[in-house]
Amino acid sequence: QISSLACEEEQPCVTQDGVAISLLGNVGLPDELDQIADHHLGGVGLFRTEFLFIDSHKRPGFDLQAKVYGDMANKLAGLPMVIRTFDLGGDKLPPFLALDDASVRSSLHLRGLRFSLSEKDLLDAQLRAIVQVAQTADVRILFPMVIGSHDFSQAIADVDRAVRQLDVLRRPAVGAMIETPAALFALDEILELADFVAIGTNDLTQYMLAADRDLSEGTDDCTAMHPAVLRAIKRVVQSSQRWICSVCVCGEEAGESDFACLLVGLGVRELSLSPSRGAAVRHAIRRVDSRRAAELAERALQCRSPSEVRELLTLGLSDCA
Ligand code: PEP
Ligand code: MG
Repeated sequence: QISSLACEEEQPCVTQDGVAISLLGNVGLPDELDQIADHHLGGVGLFRTEFLFIDSHKRPGFDLQAKVYGDMANKLAGLPMVIRTFDLGGDKLPPFLALDDASVRSSLHLRGLRFSLSEKDLLDAQLRAIVQVAQTADVRILFPMVIGSHDFSQAIADVDRAVRQLDVLRRPAVGAMIETPAALFALDEILELADFVAIGTNDLTQYMLAADRDLSEGTDDCTAMHPAVLRAIKRVVQSSQRWICSVCVCGEEAGESDFACLLVGLGVRELSLSPSRGAAVRHAIRRVDSRRAAELAERALQCRSPSEVRELLTLGLSDCA
């Protein structure tokens, strides 16, 4: 089976009825970039840049970051790369900031974009590096943990300032991660500003269900299969269609074959996953009919528990295995 999956990796990711699904990869280190080509993925849908900060005793400056992002873009040879600005805070704190205050370490204090906006010099250096690389490569900027247009518009203003400071012409596409309950209730105001959005099911599930993402083992009820999370995803897809804005799902669950088919049924056309999951997801999607997946998704939205959804998918997708 493994080798037949590998052969299929060169085939387009298209459903039985001809709907193309874009498969991209999540990458957390430059070394992982080889896997994008190995698995015939369409580019990097999520580059997590935290390693540059968490493992460093020195502030990563413009030069270092321009080199790292530039080398990666060259290696991708024209494929797109979505660079997420540093998603720090909680237990992910860079040693060079020496932030020992317990409140800073709280997972519900300064997180994601809020943290970045409180460390402007750090954010500015990163944005300038990305903007610089974007002059010659298809590089896009994604902000984590956006909670509304107030924080997102400040981030966009910072991108615009970086463009002015570098005196360059091209402003890269700017996107927002939808991974907080607040963002779900501010979708229109975010979509009005965004060039694209990315749903982070890891955090969206955690914050919607009040369930720690790192402690979910054994708690079958707290997964992205929860109908409340599915309804949230559906809402993002529908709003994005109204704003003609592309939407990608980039949480770990996008790499689960059944869930990926369910996402197709919910109207998602772009998935970013751990590259090693590419073969299995491509295999599953190539066997599903998008209209059948849409019917299953409609029924999944009416379910009362993740186990009901799972059962529905096991039965409904069994003929496509
Ligand atoms: C997510 O939250 O789903 C996500 C993709 O981002 P991360 O796992 O880096 O928080
Ligand atoms: Mg996240």
